[in-house]
Amino acid sequence: LSLAADLAIECNASSMPKPDPSTLVFGKQFSDHMLTINWSAKDGWEAPQIKPFQNLSLHPASSALHYSIELFEGMKAFRGVDNHIRLFRPMLNMERMYRSADRCCLPLFDKGELLECIRKLVEVDQEWVPYSQNASLYIRPTFIGTEPSLGVSQAGKAMIFVIIGPVGPYFATGSFNPVSLLADPSFVRAWKGGVGAYKMGGNYGPTIAVQSEAVKRGCQQVLWLYGEQEEITEVGTMNLFIYLTNEKGERELVTPPLDGLILPGVTRQSLLDLARGWGEFKVTERTMNMKELLKALDAGKVLEVFGAGTACVVCPVGSLLYRGKTYEIPTMQNGPDLAKRFYKELTDIQYGRTPSDWAPLV
Ligand code: PMP
Repeated sequence: LSLAADLAIECNASSMPKPDPSTLVFGKQFSDHMLTINWSAKDGWEAPQIKPFQNLSLHPASSALHYSIELFEGMKAFRGVDNHIRLFRPMLNMERMYRSADRCCLPLFDKGELLECIRKLVEVDQEWVPYSQNASLYIRPTFIGTEPSLGVSQAGKAMIFVIIGPVGPYFATGSFNPVSLLADPSFVRAWKGGVGAYKMGGNYGPTIAVQSEAVKRGCQQVLWLYGEQEEITEVGTMNLFIYLTNEKGERELVTPPLDGLILPGVTRQSLLDLARGWGEFKVTERTMNMKELLKALDAGKVLEVFGAGTACVVCPVGSLLYRGKTYEIPTMQNGPDLAKRFYKELTDIQYGRTPSDWAPLV
């Protein structure tokens, strides 16, 4: 990747009106500028450009459009109590993006340089970072193959682009809303040896039909199961956490391992780091199957189940529809003490209420 020092900035002559943070719909509003960086096998990385937000012009044979040579990231910038803007562990996103690029045979890039270009974009559009501790600026780095050829082969041309836009609170009411999940083993998101651990667009399109099936059956999200043993993997686009009293009578926080089936979430890593730092209960990355979960639920051993991701930080799970039967999960009845504690710790860091090197200034 060419140096952030070569970044050219073309400012937008006009600025779009900023939406009221209370009316924001995820992913529909974008700021005044975008970042683009082109690459070709012949010339390598071109100088990065920040320019007015605009449509892309692509050759209709572009490999991203035909073979999903596409990957993306999702991260946020927050306006803190001190009015300074912070990112949250952004190098973890750059590292994940780099791994996705490698798996897509897209050209590798300098993670620090790309982050510096993104930082610059946020700085240019800093007025788009909501003046609210309930909202944030969503950052969508995207990497596409732009090879103008229908051959199924490595892209000789590619483009990184980054678009950003304000997003509102995930929990509109200001308090946690538990979600209901459909756990149906006939749907599979990812498999061993596949690409579930990479943030490729091709992993997401096929989930939409399953998500609408969940809604048809009265559920809000999908609990993705895997294999004969019906291993629990992820929920919707979140990593999953189960807090329970284990067989030995100890408190244990369980989350599925990074075995290639799940996306290595930044939020997941952060919850693990926090909990291990507290040292108050057992923290385990291990496989749990439906049989074990249902047994623990039946025995009243499950305290809290929640999803974790950039969108919501943590999202409590209230029930599970499995093989025609609804299982209630007492997450809300248990506070949810742990989910709330994680939520407070992370948002305190993001909004600058707790100083942390996890939240570098823009
Ligand atoms: N799993 C999937 C499939 C996702 O798309 C996401 C969102 N990136 C996550 C988990 C959570 O990851 P993160 O905490 O980095 O947002």
